[in-house]
Amino acid sequence: MLQSKLFGKTSKTKEADATSINHELLVRAGFVDQLMAGVYSYLPLGWRVLDKISDVVRDEMNKVDAQEIYLPALHPKENWEKTDRWDKMDVLFKLESQTGSSYALGPTHEEVIVPLAKKHIASYRDLPGAWYQIQTKFRDELRAKAGLLRGREFLMKDLYSFHASEDDLKDYYEKMKEPYLNVFKRCGLDVIITLASGGSFTDEYSHEFQVETKNGEDLIFKCSCAEARNKEIVGDLKDGDNCPECGKAVEAVKSIEVGNIFDLGKKFSKDFDLKFTDEDGKEKEVIIGCYGIGISRLMGAIVEVSNDDKGIIWPKEVSPYEYHLVTLGDDEKVYKQSEEVYDDLVKSGKEVLWDDRRESSNAEKLNDADLIGISTRLIISPKTDGKIEKKERND
Ligand code: ATP
Ligand code: MG
Repeated sequence: MLQSKLFGKTSKTKEADATSINHELLVRAGFVDQLMAGVYSYLPLGWRVLDKISDVVRDEMNKVDAQEIYLPALHPKENWEKTDRWDKMDVLFKLESQTGSSYALGPTHEEVIVPLAKKHIASYRDLPGAWYQIQTKFRDELRAKAGLLRGREFLMKDLYSFHASEDDLKDYYEKMKEPYLNVFKRCGLDVIITLASGGSFTDEYSHEFQVETKNGEDLIFKCSCAEARNKEIVGDLKDGDNCPECGKAVEAVKSIEVGNIFDLGKKFSKDFDLKFTDEDGKEKEVIIGCYGIGISRLMGAIVEVSNDDKGIIWPKEVSPYEYHLVTLGDDEKVYKQSEEVYDDLVKSGKEVLWDDRRESSNAEKLNDADLIGISTRLIISPKTDGKIEKKERND
């Protein structure tokens, strides 16, 4: 890609209404544009990153035998009434058709996938099953002020697993922690597995995947003796208090929830009458698990923890391009050489953004390269004397 033709300009000026690092840097570097609070357009650089994160997630989900599907975002009201969430879910966006019918914009998809599963699951032979999608979710969030971290429209991976027994679900649930950890590692993030409330459906806990950062909206308590715990389940525990398990002092840290896995038990099977016949011919309710990753929040979280005073530092696997080729000066010979290098790299299948802008100063080009944050930079200038200088953004 030639930078002179790239849709999306960088900007030096501070974003007036930026309330978070990820919003500030992603807008200034030309990755996203805010349409209104919590709603963003993705420009080519931003879309490439989102796509790469999605591909990492797909790769890991496919490894645990989950199959990708795509469900509608527009849901009939009846399904949400069946689960008793039409009136109870405060973030549910509701709309009315010109014919008077009511709909919800999906904030999550149990109301769609469980009735769908009912058409395909009849016997124990149809179980287990695991299906996932990467799709736009809508939530009427009151505080959509943290850039991509809290959208009112955002991208999520949601996976639903269906089992004949609680034990089978437990196995799959435990197995899922590994691909989850892989996803976050490949995105350059250290995560803390954290016990949290399981929602209203089970007495069991759910597990969240939390990224520690001072800009996080969550508060979690760490202790060396066991899993971290979300504030929501620890009562009035404070930083430095004694751990209820081992008595040592707990550490309270702010964090961002990038993923959450749940045991939903039989709640939705009961609502939609999803049953199967077991080996003895007995009818039983299907046991369901649900596994979310906030793909766009993940992109925001990466920027929150991986940046310096000059801009973003993308981890290699989700960098919008592999190489940022930067030509300095306006020497004809140097441009010719750069063009050859660019062509060669592209021919060998590399992803390259070439800063071929003739009218920009060297300082402007280098500042932009730092701001955009592509993981590996290749510099060609009259000083490099026919050679290429290679530099990693993170050193
Ligand atoms: P939160 O507590 O932050 O509001 P949640 O627990 O309600 O999130 P889940 O229902 O667990 O969210 O959704 C699964 C994942 O989707 C979350 O772990 C998070 O990464 C992501 N997510 C949830 N809400 C948003 C949002 N408003 N914007 C972006 N990502 C979100
Ligand atoms: Mg959650």
